[in-house]
Amino acid sequence: MQARVYNFSPGPAVLPLEVLEEAQRDLLALPGLGISALEVSHRSKWFDGVLEETQANLRKLLRARENFHILFLQGGSRLQFSMIPMNLLRDRSADFIVTGSWGQMACEEAARIGQVRTAFSAKAENFNRLPTTRELDLDPQAAYVHFTSNETIQGVQFPSEPDVGNVPLVCDASSDFLSRPLDLERYGILYACAQKNAGPAGVTVVLIRDDLLQQCRDDLPSMLSFKQHVREGSRLNTPPVFAVYLVMLVTRWLLNTIGGLDRMQALNQAKARLLYEVIDASGGFYRGHAVPEARSVMNVTFRLPDQETEARFLKEAAARQLCELKGHRSVGGIRASIYNAMPLAGVQALADFMREFAR
Ligand code: PMP
Repeated sequence: MQARVYNFSPGPAVLPLEVLEEAQRDLLALPGLGISALEVSHRSKWFDGVLEETQANLRKLLRARENFHILFLQGGSRLQFSMIPMNLLRDRSADFIVTGSWGQMACEEAARIGQVRTAFSAKAENFNRLPTTRELDLDPQAAYVHFTSNETIQGVQFPSEPDVGNVPLVCDASSDFLSRPLDLERYGILYACAQKNAGPAGVTVVLIRDDLLQQCRDDLPSMLSFKQHVREGSRLNTPPVFAVYLVMLVTRWLLNTIGGLDRMQALNQAKARLLYEVIDASGGFYRGHAVPEARSVMNVTFRLPDQETEARFLKEAAARQLCELKGHRSVGGIRASIYNAMPLAGVQALADFMREFAR
């Protein structure tokens, strides 16, 4: 069999080996059923159990109370850019805190549906920093304030939630979901496509607080209506059964092997520190994109002296099984995505290579 490399892809991204091994065992026949996890009905008792356990595991990990509904939807995080304003923007407007490309896109998509205001944008600084509380130009009447907890492309992450007063926070947590504990009570909606930290592409987890759900419009097409999805328990149409099953296995891994989100956060911080230390000790050979206070624990973005050297870096890294390190086409440079499932050994191997390459 082909050996596994260290996959630093921004998503779809590395999954825990024991999750893949379990899925492999069940691929031909699930125990007690004799049917593959790829073949089983979304109305089966087995899938009832998968939905139930995945929700219960997520509730436990995120300490989500019963006032949050947990949905498994399709269309990726990008559909949420439209679906959330469709459901919640009536006569009010929404505020957007824009700290990177994804937040910008979320804001532009919402503007097609309703009124939006940009409460902050770091575009002029090439999205390398976060706002201070004083810089936020907030509308106290806004329906919600949208922010992106981790900007995957720029590698800019909020260490904690922005202070927006009493207006509900709506968070695109696509690339740091389940990487650290959260104070969920501060959020109205939190959404994340699975393909970075939670599973494979194909399913998007949406947590929506009940009071926001009650404000959602009733006259939308069913597939775009949060109320309909909640009413049908994420089975308004055929959900991506296999993807949800993998999210279940990943949440089990987080609970049983890792030991919860506090432990996960400590491991993630230790991994990120290894790379930022190399960047900071390189005498300017490696230049981090984000200012230190805004550095992402998930996506470490940096540049080398010139594009030729960057190309050589990528080639030599790949020769050592350190793969998918190319930065996003819109910003260039190098990006090491070190999500939950990237083992410490992979990050150590990258840090060692970076030191040697700089020398
Ligand atoms: N938001 C963020 C922060 C992302 O990183 C991504 C995917 N890279 C998206 C939204 C879009 O997700 P999807 O491709 O699932 O629509």
